[in-house]
Amino acid sequence: AGRLAFEQKETHLDRMPEAPVKIMMNVGTPDQAFAFAKLPHRGVGLARLEFIINRQIGIHPRALLEFDTLPAELKGEVAERIAAYPSPRDYFVKRVAEGVSMIAAAFAPEPVIVRLSDFKSNEYANLIGGDLYEPREENPMLGYRGASRYVSADFRECFDMECEALRFVRDEMGLTNVQIMVPFVRTVGEARAVIELLAENGLSRGENGLKVIMMCELPSNAVLADDFLEHFDGFSIGSNDMTQLTLGLDRDSSLVAGTFDERDPAVLRMLSMAIEACRRQGKYVGICGQGPSDHPDLAEWLVEQGIESMSLNPDTVVETWLRLAKLQPARA
Ligand code: PEP
Ligand code: MG
Repeated sequence: AGRLAFEQKETHLDRMPEAPVKIMMNVGTPDQAFAFAKLPHRGVGLARLEFIINRQIGIHPRALLEFDTLPAELKGEVAERIAAYPSPRDYFVKRVAEGVSMIAAAFAPEPVIVRLSDFKSNEYANLIGGDLYEPREENPMLGYRGASRYVSADFRECFDMECEALRFVRDEMGLTNVQIMVPFVRTVGEARAVIELLAENGLSRGENGLKVIMMCELPSNAVLADDFLEHFDGFSIGSNDMTQLTLGLDRDSSLVAGTFDERDPAVLRMLSMAIEACRRQGKYVGICGQGPSDHPDLAEWLVEQGIESMSLNPDTVVETWLRLAKLQPARA
């Protein structure tokens, strides 16, 4: 139930050896979805909504919500883009739904985990109208992003629009292979608040097969894994942010890039804490950061730790799959 009736006779999967882990893909570009779906896969482990919004909309969501009061020149520019839609809000919802549904349809019936937006304020500022609405932060990587943004009153309506787009894809278009992921959750309080907001927006965990996964990408998430997991169906590890935050180095600074390594023992400790907690609780655990795409030895280590799925860059899928297929099956 909740899965699409979609039968294929022979698939790319039949031509691959069995891997000890579900290999998924990171795909955030609707126009490439059908091409990528021809690769062997068990779904999409990370579809970044900010990529989809960038391509499908390119306008700051508040410039749409506050369309009536925009300065004349900006209003003209936005009006041109949204002309074919009954309202600015409808433009956002339908264009985002179109982008998400292309990925969901290409990869059906496998799961497509769509992550709610995780624009940093400097990235939002680059959208049309963005400089009107975005604060200037010294450290956007550590600032107003992810779940912390969703729970603030200023962002509430933008969050509601994202939810409406996903609800449309799942409930109206019937693409119930779309699952939801929440990024950058700093505290257990935020976790609880986001789950409540999702439910208020018609996206309740468990309803119509909806799974809500949390990105495990801050040290707090690994340290208090059991408490965070109470609110979610599982974790997907964001090794990019986890490495940045465990080692205290800015992903955006080339000066410290030489020290960035997901295989640092401190990072590995965080990852094994997260995996252990999920396994103890019998919850889903995957990884969707760059780590295993860049480092085959890390991919193998993750399998040994008992990770359930690995979402890779499309260009590394086949190579990593064949390599992992040579390993012993994951521990039971
Ligand atoms: C991560 O942090 O590992 C991740 C997948 O998210 P992003 O790269 O978008 O921060
Ligand atoms: Mg991240």
